[in-house]
Amino acid sequence: MKILISDAFDPSLPERLKAFGEATDDKNQLPTANVVLIRSKTKCTKEYIDSAPELKIIIRGGVGLDNVDLDYAKQKGVQVFNTPAASSVAVAELAMAHLVAIPNRLIEGHMTMKAGQWAKKELKRTELYQKTLGLIGLGRIGGEVAKRAKAFGMHVLAYDKYVDRADACELVSLDELLAQADFISLHTPLTEETRGMINAGLIGKMKDGVILINTGRGKVINEADLAAALAGGKVRAYGTDVWESDPPPESSPLLSAPNVFMTPHIGASSKENLLRIGDIIVALLEEHGGK
Ligand code: NAD
Repeated sequence: MKILISDAFDPSLPERLKAFGEATDDKNQLPTANVVLIRSKTKCTKEYIDSAPELKIIIRGGVGLDNVDLDYAKQKGVQVFNTPAASSVAVAELAMAHLVAIPNRLIEGHMTMKAGQWAKKELKRTELYQKTLGLIGLGRIGGEVAKRAKAFGMHVLAYDKYVDRADACELVSLDELLAQADFISLHTPLTEETRGMINAGLIGKMKDGVILINTGRGKVINEADLAAALAGGKVRAYGTDVWESDPPPESSPLLSAPNVFMTPHIGASSKENLLRIGDIIVALLEEHGGK
C-alpha cells in the first residue's frame, strides 16, 4: 500500500506507517497512492481525486471535511474518514487563549513593550468574570469552551440549530444570544447554511463593543461586513484562527482592519493533538486498509 502524507502531521507518523507499506510525502506520487493523509491544506477536489486513480482512502486528520468533495469521492469508491474527536480540546484551548488574550490586552502589552513603550496607563483590561459568552454551535468544541468559560465565572449561552439540551450552559435563540453576549465564539462547521451567516444583519443585532472569536471556519463570517463593523466600533475586536482562504490574501479586509488578533489556523496543531490524530490514523488503516 502506498500512503501519501500530503499535509503536516506528527514527525513520528511516517515510521508508524511503515507497517502498512510505503509512506511518502512526495506529492508527485499522488497518481500511484492508495491512501492520502490530509489536514486542511490539501483540497481533495474532483480534479485531485481524478489524478489519483489508485486512491481507496482519504483520511482527514481533523474535523472539517469541507476540503474534500465527498460526493465525488463516494462516486469514485474512495472512502473518506476524519478524526473528529481528537481536536476538540486543542481548538477549545485556542478559543480560550483568544478569549483571554484580547480583553486582557496581552498582545498590545507585548507589542508596545517590544517597541520600547510603557503603556501602563493606556492598557485598561476587561475581566471575563460575570460577563456573558455566546457560543454559536454547541458540538464537541463549543461544549469544551463552555466548560472552560464557566470556570472563569462567565455566564455561558449557546445557540445550536440542531441541539436541544446542554449541560454546561443555557440554550437560547440566536436573537437572544446576539442581544446578550459580551463575547461571541463561533463553533459551527462550514455548510451551505452557515456560509456567510455572520453578516451585517446579524452583527447589527449584537451588543455594541462585542468581541468575536472565530476558531470555526473563516467563511462563516462575511469578512467585508466584519471589517466595516470593526472600523465603526460596533465590534470591538475579532480574534481569529480561520480565514476565507489559508493564508488570507494581502487584500483581505481583516489584515488591515483595526483590533484583529490573528493566528494562522493552528487550532488543531498542538503536539498532543497531532499524536492523537496519528493514533487514530493507524487504527483506521488497521481496520480499513487491508494491511
Ligand atoms: P461538531 O459537529 O461537534 O459541532 C458543530 C455544531 O454546530 C453541531 O452541534 C451542530 O449542530 C452545530 N451547527 C451546525 N449548523 C448550525 C447552524 N446553522 N446554526 C447553529 N449551529 C449549527 O463539530 P466540532 O468538533 O465542535 O467542530 C466545529 C468546527 O470547528 C468544525 O466543523 C471545523 O470547521 C472547526 N474546526 C476548526 C479547527 C481549527 O484549526 N481552527 C480545528 C477543528 C475544527
